[in-house]
Amino acid sequence: MMYDYLIVGAGLFGATFAYRASRQGKRCLVIDKRPHLGGNVYCEQVEGINVHKYGAHIFHTSNQEVWQFVNHIVPFNRYTNSPVANYQGRLYNLPFNMNTFYQMWGVITPDEAQRMIEAQKQEAQHQLNGGEPSNLEEQALTLVGRDIYEKLIKGYTEKQWGRPCKELPAFIIKRLPVRMVFDNNYFNDSYQGIPIGGYNKLIDGLLEGVETRTNTDFFADRNYWEGVAEKIVFTGKIDEFFDYRFGQLEYRTVNFEQQTLDTPNYQGNAVVNYTEAQVPYTRIIEHKHFEMFGQQVYDVPRTVISREYSMEWKPGMEPYYPINDERNNQLAEQYRQLAHDCPNVIFGGRLAEYRYYDMAPIVEKVLKMKIE
Ligand code: FAD
Ligand code: UDP
Repeated sequence: MMYDYLIVGAGLFGATFAYRASRQGKRCLVIDKRPHLGGNVYCEQVEGINVHKYGAHIFHTSNQEVWQFVNHIVPFNRYTNSPVANYQGRLYNLPFNMNTFYQMWGVITPDEAQRMIEAQKQEAQHQLNGGEPSNLEEQALTLVGRDIYEKLIKGYTEKQWGRPCKELPAFIIKRLPVRMVFDNNYFNDSYQGIPIGGYNKLIDGLLEGVETRTNTDFFADRNYWEGVAEKIVFTGKIDEFFDYRFGQLEYRTVNFEQQTLDTPNYQGNAVVNYTEAQVPYTRIIEHKHFEMFGQQVYDVPRTVISREYSMEWKPGMEPYYPINDERNNQLAEQYRQLAHDCPNVIFGGRLAEYRYYDMAPIVEKVLKMKIE
């Protein structure tokens, strides 16, 4: 055997694992079928701007160990995510906070806002008749009431998931904070930011000194790759690893329509969500705002934006969001059972575990792993 570990996939899971294992003296080889390293956090430089090729990525965590770990690879900047929602040409701050309530109803104090929300929630609670919300629509209506649901949630969510809110699980919307203060910080976490110089610096730092090969698909020569290392760390699709024996898992994918514009500042914010159903895209990302602040925005004369169109995944597309409905959860569980019988394969990350992981929990998980 030439290596202790063959790591399939150079995303954050594979790269963090390779970093730790190689520092413990393990011989590692990382392969990725894409032409570059980094998985979904990979950025491409356009006009001096780091463009998040596979969707906007904001690192956020309350775990100090994780924060210190990534910052010792590359320092992070002070970017704070504060997306704005555009509904029929009017702007609303997110997450739902006193600014949003002022923009929605003209209420000035937390008491007034609370009364307004309570009045709106009552209608939904009355209909539930003491029961628990059983889907996303019921959850949203009991959380913030009808006005916010209809203007800021329904259209966006149905575009993002391609299913009516009534058919989506309630937990998706529980992730959105509701705040009775004037605070547009999207996350509740203690730490957030973007690596200074972009995510490629993080990946390059993690993979420094590690042997890597791009344009290399594990399944193109599976027998060969299974023979090169004692153990495999697999971060690709778990159903593909088992030849789709129980059927295919489903995903949502995103199509990115990228444009370079002859203006230094197109929308004044990194993220603007389009929450009405009639606009076909879910949001517009203006990449320079992740790393350029104040006057720096104008020092670069052009800007790069991406419109995001959410759609159902089909073979050949990039699988992004696992769909946690009953069918897919059951199917994923069947594959996880098979994985238990593969003692020499570690299944890790978003695709191999079929779980929607943010970046920080991926790093946290790898930092906790025992590497033997
Ligand atoms: P990936 O990054 O997908 O890496 C897996 C790698 O395996 C890929 O490079 C793939 O090419 C490779 N691979 C697969 N099959 C094979 C094969 N057969 N042979 C060789 N290589 C293979 N998280 C946040 O914390 N904040 C955010 O703002 C955020 N935004 C996101 C936006 C979008 C649109 C998406 C999709 C995700 C977002 N995430 C965000 C989540 C983040 O992308 C993941 O947590 C992280 O990328 C997971 O890393 P991973 O290594 O598991 O997967
Ligand atoms: N959401 C919404 N309106 C918005 C932003 C988010 O209704 O303007 C809902 C949507 O259902 C989404 C969920 O909140 O799936 C979680 O949003 P978040 O931005 O955390 O999701 P991500 O895109 O990162 O998975």
